[in-house]
Amino acid sequence: MPSDPDLVPVSDPATGGTWWIDRTFLRSTWRCRWDDGCVGIDDVERPDAGLGCCSEGAQLLDEDEARRIDALGRTLDPNRFQHHVAVVDGGLVTRRDGRAHTRVVDGACVFLNRPGFAGGHGCALHLDAVAEIEDPTDGPAAALEAKPAVCWQLPMKIDRSADEPVLRAWRRSDWGPGGETMAWCCTEGPSPSGVDAHDGGVPVTISLRAELDALLGDDLAAEVVAACD
Ligand code: SF4
Repeated sequence: MPSDPDLVPVSDPATGGTWWIDRTFLRSTWRCRWDDGCVGIDDVERPDAGLGCCSEGAQLLDEDEARRIDALGRTLDPNRFQHHVAVVDGGLVTRRDGRAHTRVVDGACVFLNRPGFAGGHGCALHLDAVAEIEDPTDGPAAALEAKPAVCWQLPMKIDRSADEPVLRAWRRSDWGPGGETMAWCCTEGPSPSGVDAHDGGVPVTISLRAELDALLGDDLAAEVVAACD
């Protein structure tokens, strides 16, 4: 049994197994401050850079996801993909520390369109997925499916380092080497200059419900939400 008082048990309806969930985080009003004050994850705050947490590139789940993202990137409309030349000049996916990552170009993920790009600021995979859908109600699901898993799961993390899985908030240590010197970890609290991601107005169980469903499956997600009510 974990000693962290924020963790409470939830039974998985499918398996009967126990999950531990960080109820404090899931009840919090955290929201992503992307393009709305986020100061990034560098050692100094950079609110004007517009990089969010894309400055590291995305760590990909496995080689299957690496192939999927590489193939998808090659289909993107160049008008919505600022760094599309990377398709033929250096590639979209690279290997680092034994894992596949999206390539870093000019200090951030190759798929990140920078502020001022005519095709839109933000993730080219996301922008293209949303632009190509025919039914607007499909937009959220299409955007999730288009991106690397870590990009929509963050700041939620499934930690399987213990006997029973833990659903918790992303921590500095999850960023690997360099995490300790980041000026801000948005799940911890305000940045040194006072930017706070805990001002979303509604609990994470509401604002990230689609992500919870995708991460855990509908039935377990419903149990998690009920445990937070
Ligand atoms: S998840 Fe946090 S660090 Fe990443 S863009 Fe959102 S607020 Fe910024």
